[in-house]
Amino acid sequence: MDRPIYLDCHATTPVDDRVLAAMLPYFTTHFGNASSVGHAYGWEAEAAIAQARDILAAAIGATPEEIIFTSGATEANNLAIKGVAESYFSRGRHIITLQTEHNAVLDPCRYLASLGFEITFLPVQADGLIDVDTLEKALRDDTILVSVMAANNEIGVLQPLAEIGALCRDLNILFHTDAAQAIGKIPLDVEAMKIDLMSLTAHKVYGSKGIGALYVRRRDPRVQIAPQFHGGGQERGLRAGTLSTPLIVGLGKAVEIALEELPSESARISGLRDHLWQSLQSIDGIHLNGHPTQRLLGNLNVSIEGVDGQALLLALQPVIAVSSGSACTSAKVTPSHVLQALGLSDALAYASLRFGIGRFNTEEECDRAAHCVIDVVQSLRDR
Ligand SMILES: *Cc1c(COP(=O)(O)O)cnc(C)c1O
Repeated sequence: MDRPIYLDCHATTPVDDRVLAAMLPYFTTHFGNASSVGHAYGWEAEAAIAQARDILAAAIGATPEEIIFTSGATEANNLAIKGVAESYFSRGRHIITLQTEHNAVLDPCRYLASLGFEITFLPVQADGLIDVDTLEKALRDDTILVSVMAANNEIGVLQPLAEIGALCRDLNILFHTDAAQAIGKIPLDVEAMKIDLMSLTAHKVYGSKGIGALYVRRRDPRVQIAPQFHGGGQERGLRAGTLSTPLIVGLGKAVEIALEELPSESARISGLRDHLWQSLQSIDGIHLNGHPTQRLLGNLNVSIEGVDGQALLLALQPVIAVSSGSACTSAKVTPSHVLQALGLSDALAYASLRFGIGRFNTEEECDRAAHCVIDVVQSLRDR
């Protein structure tokens, strides 16, 4: 049996063959530990990691010393948020984030709240975008950090990073952004956008799972973060643990390819997305969730009136791999907190589909997916 068409690129992406090819030697012949300063095996690993660090830094307008490798965006978010909280608590204990953030931001914030920090979970507008005036009003003398994601993982909306960065910099408040969905998909520049900390991951951009990075600004201002792992002193003591050379090489290669191909890939993927949305609009009572244009080009998130979300996903499963607007946390199904923050009813949140179109999807796949959704909705309504 054919496997379903994969349209869930916000959950993860396959490793690009070119990325895999770059990684392979570092699993076998070039297996050295980058901390082994006494022989060639160590030097090879160190050189490969330095190259990947240069690529990443250049990709976001940073310097190589400002890149700390982590196991992914979850760890990077934890290091940024808890690391700043631990370093700056004597200056203030107030942190602002969005209700629509990924749990990898929300949960560290909730943890800090349990330690006595005060967290403002800012609402968003009906289109998913932050209202910068609302943010400005929420800032206080004791605010130490604002954490706002670059691109949302469910509805794809792109937050106005440069505006937020400018506001925070004026008031000496640190600005962190979770760019897990954004790296390699939209231009990012820590100088122009006045970003102080940025979380990255490889596996949403055709790299491997288990590797990511945190950008930490070193000048104007020099950002202090308390390490969350202690051990061998790697990454200037900010993240101990032997560096995974193959995964880091893959992260560098994945970002390099994504930036090289950004113009052509953007045009192709947005064409597929617009085509899919065009086809799906033949369904009565279908709505787009999130801002119509200020969003990732491969993202389409829709709600369909008058169908049961669970039945919809179940019927689609054999043909297309997509996500629905429900989160399965410890066997309990709950509606997406992102769609709830947009003001959607529980029923409409459940009856939603998130399409993530990526590098390896074709027009034929998008056509088949559209026909499948149209047929399934029809048959569910005919029941
Ligand atoms: C996927 C994702 C994460 C988690 O990243 P991992 O590398 O899987 O830990 C965090 N934030 C956003 C917005 C994501 O999309």
